[in-house]
Amino acid sequence: MVWTQEQRDKWRQNNREREKEQQNQYNKTPTRKKTNTISNWKKGGLEEHGYTYDEVYEYYLETTHCEVCNKDLSTTQKCMDHCHTDGCFRWVLCKSCNSKDSWMKKI
Ligand SMILES: [Zn+2]
Repeated sequence: MVWTQEQRDKWRQNNREREKEQQNQYNKTPTRKKTNTISNWKKGGLEEHGYTYDEVYEYYLETTHCEVCNKDLSTTQKCMDHCHTDGCFRWVLCKSCNSKDSWMKKI
């Protein structure tokens, strides 16, 4: 079969879309998400102190409620809190606790 230019263009177009979709699917896989999340933590200054990034990530996934105000984290943004002095992981917080630092008063 000999394709016309039009058919060829169409095929290329379809293929490009499929490729894009596969890329999107890949970005949504748990492995990919984990890699992205951990690399963000590293960029944010989180360091490994007696635990591995893997362990922290497991903990992060398992935490369903803010460790300070007990807010359901499925309804708000989940934040990782770490010490900005030594890069130590502290806890998983909701967005408002993370930004307000209100948990400090509770210690
Ligand atoms: Zn909170």
